[in-house]
Amino acid sequence: MALYHPGVTKCPICNQLVGASQKRTGFSHFIEDENDPLWRFSDAVIHYDCFMNWESKEEYLKRYMAAGLKWTPEYYEPKIALNVKKKGRIYGGKL
Ligand SMILES: [Zn+2]
Repeated sequence: MALYHPGVTKCPICNQLVGASQKRTGFSHFIEDENDPLWRFSDAVIHYDCFMNWESKEEYLKRYMAAGLKWTPEYYEPKIALNVKKKGRIYGGKL
């Protein structure tokens, strides 16, 4: 699963920092080839809105699923603290 560091992690779509209070989602590493145009989005933390409006979203998700990984629009942070505790789940990808 991608690591998230407030004030350090940048969204690969808009190249802006991903703030601690900003809605975000994450993906596990699944593309080995560094020359692949989607490689830098593999193992990434991405602003949720950036991802949802991303032109390559469909292709990316198709390949993510094909790699045996799961992601749904419910996989995002931060959630309301109560929800996080109840579900015990952080955003997508394998640990
Ligand atoms: Zn962004």
